Amino acid sequence: MKRRDIIKTITIIGFLVSSLATPVIATAAETIKWKMVTTWPKNFPVLGTGANQLAKLIGEMSGGRIKVKVYGGGELVPALEVFDAVSRGTAQIGHGSAYYWKGKVEEAQFFSTVPFGMNGQEMNAWLYHGGGMELWTETYEPFGVVPAAAGNTMVQMAGWFNKEINSVEDLKGLKMRIPGLGGEVLRRAGGTPVNLPGAELFSSLKSGALDATEWVGPYNDLAFGFHKAAKYYYYPGWHEPGTTLEAIINKKALESLPKDLQSIVINACKVVNQEMATEFTAKNNAALDTLVNKHHVDVRRLPDDVLKKLKGLSEEVVLELAGKNKAAKRIYDSYDKFRKQVTKWDDISEREYLNIR
Ligand code: CA
Repeated sequence: MKRRDIIKTITIIGFLVSSLATPVIATAAETIKWKMVTTWPKNFPVLGTGANQLAKLIGEMSGGRIKVKVYGGGELVPALEVFDAVSRGTAQIGHGSAYYWKGKVEEAQFFSTVPFGMNGQEMNAWLYHGGGMELWTETYEPFGVVPAAAGNTMVQMAGWFNKEINSVEDLKGLKMRIPGLGGEVLRRAGGTPVNLPGAELFSSLKSGALDATEWVGPYNDLAFGFHKAAKYYYYPGWHEPGTTLEAIINKKALESLPKDLQSIVINACKVVNQEMATEFTAKNNAALDTLVNKHHVDVRRLPDDVLKKLKGLSEEVVLELAGKNKAAKRIYDSYDKFRKQVTKWDDISEREYLNIR
C-alpha cells in the first residue's frame, strides 16, 4: 500500500470508529446466536431462572458477542431430548442434570447425585479438584458434548408423606414418586416407586393415588403447595444429597468460538453453579420458616433404622451401577475414593462445627 492509501484507510477507519458506536460494529459483524434448550419448564423457580441467568451472563460477559435464547422443556424439543438436541447441534447449549441421560449413559448418574453420596460442596470439590470434571468430559466426548457444572440443589428433602414412617415396615407397599437410583432403593425396601411428572404430583397425593412424593426442597415444594396435599414433611434427602445441575455444550460450537469466548462460556457456568447453590440455600431456609410457622407443617426426621436400611440398600444399588461397565467402574472408584477422604475431613470440620454451633 502506498503511503497515501494508508492515510486514506486510517481516515476511513477513524471515521467509522468515531461516527458509529462500537457495539454496533461488533454486533453487526460478530453476534453469535445460540439456542439453549432446558429440561425445566420455562422460568421454573431457581432451576429455570438459573438457566435464564446463564444465558444472560454469557451475553453480558461477552459484550453481546454471543446471544443465547432460552427454550423451556417442550418448547423446541421435549425435556428429555435436550442431550440429543445438543449432541446433534439443534441447540448449542442445554441445561438439565446428568441423571436424565441414564438411558444413554448409565454412569452419567454419578455426575448428578447418588443416594448417600456427596453433598453439593463435596461434589464441586470432586469435580473441580478431584478429577471428576475430566471423567465427566470423557463420558460425554463420544456424543460431541462438553459438560459443565451449572447449579446445585444442595441437600434435598426426603419428601411429603401421608403415611407416617416409624419403622422399616412402613416402607412396605409405600407408593412414592421417587425417580432414579433412589426409586430402586425404595423398591428393594419393599416400596413401590412411581415416576410421575411434576404436574401430576399434587392431585395424585391429594387423591391418595400416591402415599408420598419427593420433589426438591422447601422453596420449590412450597411453590407447588404440597403442604395442602400431605401431612408430613420428612428429612433428610438421602436420595439426592447435592444434585449437580449441568450445562451441556455442543463441542463443535464451543470449539468454533475464539478462545476468550470459550473461556466466557465455561466461566459463566461456574458463576451460575455457585449462584444457584446459594440461591437454594437462601430461599430454602426462608420457605422452611413459612412452611413451619405459617402453614404449621409437621416436619419430621426419618427414623435411624429406616435410614440405616436405606443406606445399606443404596450401597448395593450404587455398586451395581459401578459394575455395569469399565467406564462406570472408573468413575465410581474416583468418586468413592474422594467421598471417603472428604468424609474424614468433613467429620472434623463441617460436621463437628455444625454440631457445636
Ligand atoms: Ca428430587
